Amino acid sequence: MTQIYERVALIGLGLIAGSMAHAMRRDGLAGEIVGYAKSAETRATVRELGFCDRVTESAAAAVENADLVVLCVPVGAMEAVAKEIGPALRPGVTVSDVGSVKRTVVDAVGPYIPDGAHFIPAHPLAGTEHSGPRSGFAELFEDRYTILVPVPDSDRAAVDRLGDLWRAMGALVEEMDPDHHDLVLAVTSHTPHLIAYTMVGVADDLRRVTDSEVIKYSAAGFRDFTRIAASDPVMWRDVFLNNKEATLEILGRFTEELFALQRAIRQGDGDHLHGYFTRTRAIRRGIIEAGQDTDAPDFGRVKARKG
Ligand code: NAP
Repeated sequence: MTQIYERVALIGLGLIAGSMAHAMRRDGLAGEIVGYAKSAETRATVRELGFCDRVTESAAAAVENADLVVLCVPVGAMEAVAKEIGPALRPGVTVSDVGSVKRTVVDAVGPYIPDGAHFIPAHPLAGTEHSGPRSGFAELFEDRYTILVPVPDSDRAAVDRLGDLWRAMGALVEEMDPDHHDLVLAVTSHTPHLIAYTMVGVADDLRRVTDSEVIKYSAAGFRDFTRIAASDPVMWRDVFLNNKEATLEILGRFTEELFALQRAIRQGDGDHLHGYFTRTRAIRRGIIEAGQDTDAPDFGRVKARKG
């Protein structure tokens, strides 16, 4: 494939940045990839892994002469990073991010982007429960959506070029405005994560079921919650602090539905339960038909080979 950017700077070198670097290197999408992460330990790990051509000692040094800068830090760290790199950005650069919340990132980062630079927030809807520089892999974005969130004066050619990069990394690309993005993600990602965290917390508190039973019988459904609830605590703290309103709105609706189901169970209202579960099953079918999951048994997990 052809090179799309000459020099890409990745600020934050964890799961998402690592996956971008692997994908860009595999297909020669960037002439040079420069990286920076906060801790000396992560910088040393990335030098050892070699997925960046250079690792710098400051974010400002990383963005020098870059034509694409992608902020891959937790949402709560975006503003401080933008403040640091702002004066070092060259005219014509595209500045993007991969944060899971968009409105607060638009508001926090936007003011530090100088005139002549293109600010195009983005969010790849792809991830795993793993984090850190060793967790990335080139295929992470394949057939997953990346949402571009252009701000009102985003340059069309710059948006298209960023879209080309994501498509070349295997993603399906769509555009949305920041508030709509945050509401959609509150439904599809943020609230489900909170529910998973809660369910695992409840199991942890329930002393009548022993820890060994919870683990031994987890395949009955619980383990899918535990996978989600193993996600990075800093990232998810920042998601809820920054997508407060939409998450609270969806949680309010969730609580109402939960109470209705609770009453149906108490009153033995099988019709209500059956009707509800029939409706929700159709959503699962829709996800499989859209190619966003597999209907292989066991949620698509590959069984460990014996022997
Ligand atoms: P990650 O694996 O935990 O990596 C985060 C990176 O950010 C680390 O390299 C960390 O450096 C660095 N960092 C933190 N604060 C920093 C600062 N002030 N200056 C410079 N570097 C800093 O996280 P991730 O999963 O890649 O997530 C990164 C972003 O992508 C987040 O905004 C998240 O919301 C978004 N996202 C995540 C997923 C997912 O499923 N994981 C999916 C889509 C989008 P150290 O290692 O030195 O601490």
